[in-house]
Amino acid sequence: MERIDVEKTASRGVAVAPVYKYLEPDFSPDGGLIAADQAGMECEKFIRAKEDVQKELELLAEENPIFAAHLEIAGDFTLQEGVETKITEELMNAQLALHNTIEEFAAIFEMMDDEYMRERAADVRDIGKRLMAVLKGIQRPDLGSIKEEVIVAARDLYPSDTVKLRPEVVKGIITEEGGVTSHVSIIAKSLNIPTLVGVSGILRKLTDGSLVCMDAGDGVIVVDPDRETLAGYQQKKEAYEGERTRLKALRQQPAVTKDGKRIALCANVGNAEDIRRALEMNIDGVGLFRSELLYMENDHFPTEEEQFAVYKEAAELIPQELTIRTLDIGGDKGLPYFSFDEEENPFLGWRAIRVSLDMKDMFKTQLRAILRASAFGHVRIMFPMIISPEELREAKALAEECKRELAAEGIAFDGAIPMGMMMETPASVLLAEEFAEEADFFSIGTNDLTQYLLAVDRGNKRIAEKYDYFHPAVVKAVGHIIAAGHKKGIKVGMCGEMAGDPDAAKLLLDLGLDEFSMSAGSVDYVREQILK
Ligand code: PEP
Ligand code: MG
Repeated sequence: MERIDVEKTASRGVAVAPVYKYLEPDFSPDGGLIAADQAGMECEKFIRAKEDVQKELELLAEENPIFAAHLEIAGDFTLQEGVETKITEELMNAQLALHNTIEEFAAIFEMMDDEYMRERAADVRDIGKRLMAVLKGIQRPDLGSIKEEVIVAARDLYPSDTVKLRPEVVKGIITEEGGVTSHVSIIAKSLNIPTLVGVSGILRKLTDGSLVCMDAGDGVIVVDPDRETLAGYQQKKEAYEGERTRLKALRQQPAVTKDGKRIALCANVGNAEDIRRALEMNIDGVGLFRSELLYMENDHFPTEEEQFAVYKEAAELIPQELTIRTLDIGGDKGLPYFSFDEEENPFLGWRAIRVSLDMKDMFKTQLRAILRASAFGHVRIMFPMIISPEELREAKALAEECKRELAAEGIAFDGAIPMGMMMETPASVLLAEEFAEEADFFSIGTNDLTQYLLAVDRGNKRIAEKYDYFHPAVVKAVGHIIAAGHKKGIKVGMCGEMAGDPDAAKLLLDLGLDEFSMSAGSVDYVREQILK
């Protein structure tokens, strides 16, 4: 028997089953450099592989919208251009050119400070593997063919693998790589499969078919358990399954506290697919639509029409509020098609509203698209990283200018669209009362607020234990923001990670928080705390 403690839980739950080791074929490129006269043939090989993959993805996209996004990336001309340049100018064969281009694309996402964005590198690599499989003529193993109950152990799982997961037989997932916002984590959460990610070296410790117990809540894996341990985990598993059934039943109840306050339980999303998943949790709206995904997945600043289509689809999906945060980019969160100057302190640099107010045409394009979508639902606009009332006024004035333009053009929009702000800088805390005079709502961004108040970089593993939203300074700031908002009669929500932590719920209710916005997988657990 061996016990392994794990840090990163992606989806809670307990599982007991034999291991199915999912070993990928070798996707590394064969061969390398070519003679100049072979370049044309290698380019053709790539184009043919691309066409095959596009056909595959078109079929898959009919069933699952994730693959519609993959289809777009696969058809992206910059990808083709990148591969062809490497073939014709650097004389690489198609496989090596593809490998290097995909790694360059993935690296752009991996450099970003937002974990959600960082994990999008997995989508790019997934497409790379699909193309490489065609180029190398290899078949990928099929998780859909599993017949018996198992715990799947893999180096990492990509969208192409996870769509085939059937929760009736896949009782647990353990991966060596991946973060809590990776694709596998999101899918596992929505399918309620207990999942542990980032367990380095686990594949070496497991043999195919050996019995494993896992508790993804406590972060424990037991390999080859003795009888007593096994019995303990069987009991835990039954208790967990009972809890899931009970929590699911609670979804029908609106989130009302014992003393009668109706709390809004909302979701944080990045696209329409996230909204569809969150709707299953009976949410009261979207408290944070991170619009940057739309900018990062493109090869150009998305046009007004492109943005309008995305926001309109989102507004029509969700009957309640849809809070769209304007572009939060910059610092070390880059765009593939725009070069940012290097900065000494990117977190204190040119990011979010600072970029938008400096690039007014780009900002107005986004504001016009959001305003147009507001004719199709209950859209709200939210500005990120505000530090002064002047910034808020300037952003609102630009929105008013867009309203006037749209009205003159005879285009419909919600004239009373609420305009609020993220409360995520120390300045916004200290000036909360002044801001409450001019903002229609507040949403507390504890992810940034914690790093700025405590001077602790949110992405620095070395000081991770100092990054704590239960620190008295953060709790005091949250209480101050809520009190200031209420004094001026505006609602205060929270969309940082703290809102999705069931252990924080009681404290936040006591402080008077009106709206909790979180990833869909946390909604059941927070609802339970509110109803208690
Ligand atoms: C936050 O800072 O808490 C937040 C929700 O925004 P982001 O994580 O996107 O910076
Ligand atoms: Mg933030």
